[in-house]
Amino acid sequence: MPEKLLVVEDSNSIAAVIKKIGQSLGYQVTVAKSHADVVAILKEDASFFAATLDYNLPDAQQGEVIKTVLSHDIPSVVITGKMDEETRAKILAQPVIDYIPKENSQAYMYLKRILYWQKANRGTGVLVVDDSRSARNYIVQLLKRRNFEVFVADTGPSALKTMEEQSNIKLVITDLEMPIMDGIELTNELRKHYSREKLAIIGISGIADPMLSARFIKNGADDFLRKPFCTEEFYCRMMQNIENLHNIEMIQKAANTDYLTELPNRRSFFNDAEKYLKEYLATSSHFGLVMIDIDYFKRINDEYGHDAGDHVLKYLAQYMLQHFPNGLLARLGGEEFAILIPGEDQDSIYQELDSFRQLLAESTVVYAKQSICFSISMGVVFNSNLSLADQMNIADQGLYQSKENGRNKITVMK
Ligand code: GH3
Ligand code: MG
Ligand code: MG
Ligand code: MG
Repeated sequence: MPEKLLVVEDSNSIAAVIKKIGQSLGYQVTVAKSHADVVAILKEDASFFAATLDYNLPDAQQGEVIKTVLSHDIPSVVITGKMDEETRAKILAQPVIDYIPKENSQAYMYLKRILYWQKANRGTGVLVVDDSRSARNYIVQLLKRRNFEVFVADTGPSALKTMEEQSNIKLVITDLEMPIMDGIELTNELRKHYSREKLAIIGISGIADPMLSARFIKNGADDFLRKPFCTEEFYCRMMQNIENLHNIEMIQKAANTDYLTELPNRRSFFNDAEKYLKEYLATSSHFGLVMIDIDYFKRINDEYGHDAGDHVLKYLAQYMLQHFPNGLLARLGGEEFAILIPGEDQDSIYQELDSFRQLLAESTVVYAKQSICFSISMGVVFNSNLSLADQMNIADQGLYQSKENGRNKITVMK
């Protein structure tokens, strides 16, 4: 079920823009053009995931719609043409997600970001560390409005314990002044275990010492907030840090993924296979290192076109994912793939690979109404304690022998 978004806006053209933004993010959008509309819609069904509210409606010119929608606990963004300080304060005194001035040329980009993160934040953990319950609760309710999964700790040691237990925590917001371990010590301790690529830390303090922010940051924090802070600054800094982590994750993922098949690429295979090999050898598990190459792939390109060739590569990747859910798979380049696969014993791994080879050779790929048949050749080396590079070399020699011996074959190397 798509999440439902309520768009309250009396201008048709603006409503159309917001509706489009909502739909592009996968929301199911309902538009209301007046306060009376909103009341009628919510009476029928108030199960909205989020709402965007026009401050000024023909039948509610003072932001009355905010109260109406918030009374149904619907997280709301207010969009306003008025920029004066009084309106801003009036809006922010209510528990809205944010407010956006219409004049701003960035307004709709900003709205899109908010609506994107409102969904994406779900499942992301944030840990709030403060010995003061009221300070903690204040931050918790701000975070909950943004759909984070919120954890709390009242001391540094209990924060470290929560971090060990909850692997989804991406952001720690810590107070400075705390008994046992202060926020800077906690930050220091956290950085011994959690890199800046995986965890953001924001320090907060009520002390008016300009050196504090620098100290926090030098000890590994990413950002600093001085108490009392306003809601807007809190949200801006917090979201910037969350977006940073997200961007790093995306870049890392792109660097480790083959763009065509979306399988791990060569670089990723080398990184991960080393870890698995160590584990298999340490536990005396059976495993096979397999090199795969499509037979006469050039002919497929020549006969059916390059796009058809691409399609075959994607098909093979999907087929591998289905057949080897426990294997580490990669596209090494071109039409070459690799698998590191664990199993009961060598024979069962061999059987698995051979039945895969056979099924593939018997199946037909349909692309642009053309039926394409193809096979693969493999070379495999079992339970080797040689380096990964050496094992790949030996498996590659096996692959070459399979080609020599007529293709659509597996060669086991000793
Ligand atoms: P063999 O059975 O000996 O492996 O023959 P082959 O034709 O499969 O091997 P060859 O190395 O001669 O040709 C591989 C071809 O794969 C050549 C290249 O154009 C094509 N190829 C490499 N990468 C891609 C790709 O990403 N997409 C498509 N469509 N073709 C690719
Ligand atoms: Mg209006
Ligand atoms: Mg080939
Ligand atoms: Mg090749």
